[in-house]
Amino acid sequence: MWWRGSICNYQKCFILFISSALIGGLSPAALANNPKGAIPNSSVSIGTPMGGRLENGEVLPKKGSGYVLIQETQRRRARFGASELVALVKEVAFRVQRKYRGSVLGVADLSRRLGGRIDHHGSHQNGRDVDFLFYLLDIKGKSIANHAFVPIDANGYSTEPPMAYRFDTPRNWALIEALLTSKKAIVQWIFVSDAIKALLLTHAQEVGASPLLIRQAEQVLRQPGKKLHMDHFHVRIYCPRTDKPACDDIGPRWAWTR
Ligand SMILES: [Zn+2]
Repeated sequence: MWWRGSICNYQKCFILFISSALIGGLSPAALANNPKGAIPNSSVSIGTPMGGRLENGEVLPKKGSGYVLIQETQRRRARFGASELVALVKEVAFRVQRKYRGSVLGVADLSRRLGGRIDHHGSHQNGRDVDFLFYLLDIKGKSIANHAFVPIDANGYSTEPPMAYRFDTPRNWALIEALLTSKKAIVQWIFVSDAIKALLLTHAQEVGASPLLIRQAEQVLRQPGKKLHMDHFHVRIYCPRTDKPACDDIGPRWAWTR
């Protein structure tokens, strides 16, 4: 039975039940006209990113509009997330590609199918974390499809290999903007080095980004202690509302997200 073994609160179970009952009777056209409401959100993020698990996690396809899942992540099968996170990844990659044609976002680890501990990470356990590679330019200023964790220095140049690539600040800022303005999920953190945060915020000021957006970016962009995050963004979303109380948020709740 669809609910056996699942953990969901009353609201989510009720939605699942009603949706299950309705979907059988919907025509393809009706489904197409109701893309948001027809398929219920069935994932449940349980616990915390550092000690949690995932139920009915949604799989991120290996590639989609504007993104590709890197090989290492495919091998590790770390491509499952809360439905909200998976929807967010798809949307932000699509939005950056729409703004900058040909953009390909390198998506790295989300969580394992059932969540839990995963190699190389202290978190990524309950479907609310995802790593993104940076959008990079080659030495001639041409956008490349980045499939590697390339460390970037305070001037925006790669250190390994040295000076071979440059941080594509406008494109990476477009990604941050898409993450902070998406309705698919609410972003709590974007972990990245202070140096890259400075590059992004300087660019945002130069292009006249809204003061609200800049303030939000100042809050969520964070170098987490000694883990510099010079070579990728680590994005964490808040618990989806429907996953409470099984899902635990830890850390600050930004005023603009309440
Ligand atoms: Zn990460």
